[in-house]
Amino acid sequence: MKALQYRTIGAPPEVVTVPDPEPGPGQVLLKVTAAGVCHSDIAVMSWPAEGFPYELPLTLGHEGVGTVAALGAGVTGLAEGDAVAVYGPWGCGTCAKCAEGKENYCLRADELGIRPPGLGRPGSMAEYLLIDDPRHLVPLDGLDPVAAVPLTDAGLTPYHAIKRSLPKLVPGSTAVVIGTGGLGHVAIQLLRALTSARVVALDVSEEKLRLARAVGAHEAVLSDAKAADAVREITGGLGAEAVFDFVGVAPTVQTAGAVAAVEGDVTLVGIGGGSLPVGFGMLPFEVSVNAPYWGSRSELTEVLNLARSGAVSVHTETYSLDDAPLAYERLHEGRVNGRAVILPHG
Ligand code: NAD
Ligand code: ZN
Ligand code: ZN
Repeated sequence: MKALQYRTIGAPPEVVTVPDPEPGPGQVLLKVTAAGVCHSDIAVMSWPAEGFPYELPLTLGHEGVGTVAALGAGVTGLAEGDAVAVYGPWGCGTCAKCAEGKENYCLRADELGIRPPGLGRPGSMAEYLLIDDPRHLVPLDGLDPVAAVPLTDAGLTPYHAIKRSLPKLVPGSTAVVIGTGGLGHVAIQLLRALTSARVVALDVSEEKLRLARAVGAHEAVLSDAKAADAVREITGGLGAEAVFDFVGVAPTVQTAGAVAAVEGDVTLVGIGGGSLPVGFGMLPFEVSVNAPYWGSRSELTEVLNLARSGAVSVHTETYSLDDAPLAYERLHEGRVNGRAVILPHG
């Protein structure tokens, strides 16, 4: 089968032919209908050889949707042809966190060498994808595969982040979204669907700010050195009850801290390497700073339910598997508006 692989440190990913996977006992083989392109893959492909955490070649793709193509021995509850979304942050399934469905925080994944598809084991940018356990599949139940696939990360990750801050996003509050790309433009819609907060979007690109407004941001502000003052002004000087940074570089993290309200939440989702020091007098009183990872299995079900209600619509542009390297190139250049989605079977 064809697959998009990251093969050489520092080189672009390549479309290659690899052996067709076959499901072993307990496994499920998916025919991939859609695979999402995440900025985290670009981060992975920028890491140096020294300390690189995954084996190469690596088939990319940690957002996946497909139809069941074959069932390994002993698998029940699924049938060939079922349309499903993949829950990506695989865990052991039995530790205390996994028992809560929080496999993203599995206590034993490192020790057992368990990795998400596309982030350590073969991912969804291929014609077929092997799933280790049926619990990592959620029924699509009528959702369109292209529209749904980004929800498995670009939807689930902001959903989890926002859910933590819901008690603070009361009427009259403000939520700030920094970086309105794949994750950020979904975050704006989730905030509008789940809260009555005023949503202020920040980005460096006018085109992304137009998308932010189109998907529901009340205010859109250019992300520069004056952005923090602009947001403070919008909030009458009080700042925002919740700030979500989907970039995470030093300047955005600084802006995030500078626009937080007393008792506000600052959530750093972007993996740009920025950090926000916490100490007395450094931030408004009782600001909480956290850096979450992905979301739980039940939260994926919740995001898909929300999408089924019509509250979230992901802006997508589609590419064939042969053109997948181009999708990464365009994402790297900041030219993808919304989420790029690869269609391995056209
Ligand atoms: P994306 O490229 O689609 O979006 C990033 C957006 O940030 C773009 O719109 C870009 O114009 C904007 N941007 C860049 N510099 C900016 C600045 N200085 N100020 C404001 N906006 C700026 O990326 P994505 O796929 O949405 O991913 C966003 C980030 O989240 C990445 O760092 C990714 O690795 C990370 N991520 C983290 C998790 C997690 O679990 N923590 C999960 C998925 C993605
Ligand atoms: Zn991702
Ligand atoms: Zn576990």
